[in-house]
Amino acid sequence: MDKPISGMMIYYYIVCKRKLWYFYNQIQMEADNENVQIGKVLDENSYKREEKHINIDDVISIDYIKDKGILHEVKKSKKIEEAGIMQIKYYLYYLKQKGVADIKGKVDYPLLKQSIDIELTEEDEENIKAILIELKEIVNRQLPPLLEKKGICKKCAYFELCYI
Ligand code: SF4
Repeated sequence: MDKPISGMMIYYYIVCKRKLWYFYNQIQMEADNENVQIGKVLDENSYKREEKHINIDDVISIDYIKDKGILHEVKKSKKIEEAGIMQIKYYLYYLKQKGVADIKGKVDYPLLKQSIDIELTEEDEENIKAILIELKEIVNRQLPPLLEKKGICKKCAYFELCYI
């Protein structure tokens, strides 16, 4: 049976489809990676006053919800800004499917002291539906997508696996 599609999978779909395949198929090397550790430290120390890590259906792990129905996703850099934005749009989409409307999102970059407001448009919804179709096709392949060298590879947890 297909696993539910999490926000992190949407993030990886944008970042690297090979990484998405590894992640979905439970090949995980993230714990050893320095960048992931920086992310965890950030996560533990940022916005301590807010309620954190709200889990919905094991699909969505929202970093925290502030007042007035705003979901927050915390990222350490804007390097892959598009992916962080799409991740939170997916959260808004998923919640809308469950009847939760009138909520917005924010991607926070505590190291940069910046944030971006996110709203879900009709175009976003169509885009997400198309992404979900392609994403499921990719993760169910027997083998990961071919390696495409990217600037982020050197800092990726799967670097050693891809570049043996
Ligand atoms: S090392 Fe590069 S190609 Fe391999 S999973 Fe990471 S980002 Fe993708």
